[in-house]
Amino acid sequence: METINRDWLFKLEVQAGRQTDKTLRDAIAQLERILDQRASRPDIKPRKSREVIRREQVGYMTLQLEKVSCGKPKCKRCKEGPSHGPYWYGYWKEGKRTRSRYIGKNIEGADILQPTPTQ
Ligand SMILES: [Zn+2]
Repeated sequence: METINRDWLFKLEVQAGRQTDKTLRDAIAQLERILDQRASRPDIKPRKSREVIRREQVGYMTLQLEKVSCGKPKCKRCKEGPSHGPYWYGYWKEGKRTRSRYIGKNIEGADILQPTPTQ
């Protein structure tokens, strides 16, 4: 995580100095939207049938790269724990419920990640 130091602030001020008031106000609105989305991300409980390899936070969603158990009692691969995949899953909240969706082996270019158009 990059910290905000004097260099960072100086660069920000130089960038900001080149922008119009309207652009800066739009940027503030975008940052507030990002903070709101961050606050509404779901809690994802660990499960025995899943091993989380990576986690990314994108907008209101948490994306996880997970190895999964197939649940078949005779599966040799899953004897030692989840071993299928890894696959990406997206998690988000709808009201109080946490919803999820399978994304696939890659997140690059996935439909679910396309930014929603803003007003
Ligand atoms: Zn299996």
